Amino acid sequence: MAAEPGLTAEQGVARDPSCLFCRIVAGEIPATRVVEDDIVLAIRDIAPRAPIHILVMPKAHIASAAELTDENAAVVGRIFAKAAGIARSEGIAEGGYRIVTNVGEWGGQTVDHLHFHLMGGRAFTWPPG
Ligand code: AMP
Ligand code: ZN
Repeated sequence: MAAEPGLTAEQGVARDPSCLFCRIVAGEIPATRVVEDDIVLAIRDIAPRAPIHILVMPKAHIASAAELTDENAAVVGRIFAKAAGIARSEGIAEGGYRIVTNVGEWGGQTVDHLHFHLMGGRAFTWPPG
């Protein structure tokens, strides 16, 4: 399937060799892959904070949501569409779930490769701590 305009596998810096998630994308570090296409990868979080805790990320290296631009932002739509499908297949769509991305130090970001936490299987409080 051809990528839609504005959404190609070459978006962002293709790869940062020092980045953990770039290395997972490349298959250099093992992870439990849930869903994958040419643009997006979803893996199970290694330290789940909910019964279902999946990370959905662009395959190309984008450091965080703070680095999104008109040129690379289409990947976020693809990520949310994938997340909706994963939520259905993981059985959490009906009960509800949370999608969150942490940005920077105060946002709690620990891996500098854009990713969205898809979490479900329990109730969450608001606002988060
Ligand atoms: P954040 O702190 O928002 O940047 O999220 C990073 C997430 O990556 C955390 O929830 C970690 O548990 C998770 N994580 C770290 N290393 C791995 C790994 N090798 N495989 C899967 N998830 C990981
Ligand atoms: Zn990366």
